[in-house]
Amino acid sequence: MEIRHFGARVFLYDPVTAAFLLVRHRRHGFWVEPGGHVDGNERPDGAAVREVREETGMEVQLIGASLPKFPSDCEDFLTQPLAIRNCPIAPGHVHMDFIYAGIPVGGSLNFSERKPEDVGWFPLEEIVRESFLAPANVRLWCRYCAQHVLLYLQSPLDRKNRDDGK
Ligand SMILES: [Zn+2]
Repeated sequence: MEIRHFGARVFLYDPVTAAFLLVRHRRHGFWVEPGGHVDGNERPDGAAVREVREETGMEVQLIGASLPKFPSDCEDFLTQPLAIRNCPIAPGHVHMDFIYAGIPVGGSLNFSERKPEDVGWFPLEEIVRESFLAPANVRLWCRYCAQHVLLYLQSPLDRKNRDDGK
């Protein structure tokens, strides 16, 4: 039988330096976005924030996909992921990954879980080059999430509506 786990992953973009925070994949050695399993009884958006903190020491504000705000007391929304990816990671083992974009809001690089050379900020212009050691989809996601973050930061009204929903 196939094992299915929920996962949460974050493309953390610093708009000031135009760089992403990436971690080195433990088995394959290339650079990927931080993330991991959603634990039992955990919200996926909570898992995303926790994984970034544990893997890198950084505090992240997730920036969800745009969602209309409905005026109702009884509706509470989790941060909307940009996608939910169905990803076979080994034979018989599938991850359903909630994919988020985010910006840094505090913390500092902390290597309790990883070696310093396995965590780093990389400029988008470096990531999108073929020579950068990352899967093609990571390059595409970084490009997309940078756009998403910049659009969000440029639309304060929209931002306010979504923040009110928290
Ligand atoms: Zn798993």
